[in-house]
Amino acid sequence: MDYIDSDGITHGLDMHTEAKAAFLTALRNHILEPRQLDYKVQFTGPTGTNAVEAAMKLARKVTGRTNIVTFTNGFHGCTMGALTATGNQHHRGGAGMPLFGTTRLPYEGYADIDGLALFETMLNDNSSGLDKPAAVLLEVVQGEGGLNVASNEWLQKLRKLCTKHNILMIVDDIQAGCGRTGTFFSFEPSGIEPDMITLSKSIGGYGLPMAVVLLKPELDKWSPGEHNGTFRGNNHAFITATQAIESYWSNDEFENHIAARSKQVTKTIERTLKKLPSLFVQAKGRGMMQGIECKNGDIAPQFLTAALKKAW
Ligand code: PLP
Repeated sequence: MDYIDSDGITHGLDMHTEAKAAFLTALRNHILEPRQLDYKVQFTGPTGTNAVEAAMKLARKVTGRTNIVTFTNGFHGCTMGALTATGNQHHRGGAGMPLFGTTRLPYEGYADIDGLALFETMLNDNSSGLDKPAAVLLEVVQGEGGLNVASNEWLQKLRKLCTKHNILMIVDDIQAGCGRTGTFFSFEPSGIEPDMITLSKSIGGYGLPMAVVLLKPELDKWSPGEHNGTFRGNNHAFITATQAIESYWSNDEFENHIAARSKQVTKTIERTLKKLPSLFVQAKGRGMMQGIECKNGDIAPQFLTAALKKAW
């Protein structure tokens, strides 16, 4: 309100503004530097899928390779490039044409297959049919794909594999980032450093569109204006994001806050599982991204209807 009252710039155009500068400063001072992370920030079109597109394009441009490895049940957005990386047939069907340029591997725990052992074997076998990928693209906690969580060990192993084979690692933190799993970045507990990170989904927690790619400085091989976009500067989103970072992420209290809220969710889920064991399979997820796996597809909508009725 202060920003609007003071006649702050409203437009969402791709221009330098004080609001943008303040956001970049807050991101550097309170998010990147305290974690000793060195990334350049690329503003993309305002929704998450735009950031995924940019990261995939850049990985291909930098490495000169086409293929990108993605994982079962991954969701990365609905524009054409991001859709090639998305597993869900419902979304893929909307493409209206074949989707190519990616190879899908089993995520951790998928059908009890060791996806990383398979990946390593395929990388080392010239006849495996796997074109050496430019990058792997993954969610650390899969959101749309069913709250599947990659363990720290799995992430570390994947990071090692990528480094060994000179493959870029892109973490799509559009849903699991910004604190939703307990830490600002979902991968923090594993100690890994991705080569690129995509962030979006209301960085300011106020529902205003803004998306960024964080990239290792040496990967910035874009020619000027090569990956362009008219609306890459949502000033009100910069203001809310700066406010969120400065008031929420600038001290250590956020960790206790998220931990307490996550515990509350876990407790409710545990209570529900105990109460209605015949309906559910298991609890899933991490932090604020937790849920219950139902025994069949009819249960969740019924459960939701009953819960909403109770809420009203
Ligand atoms: N990546 C992940 C992990 C997401 O969860 C989503 C959206 O749910 C996207 C990308 C796409 O973001 P948007 O819907 O803002 O394009």
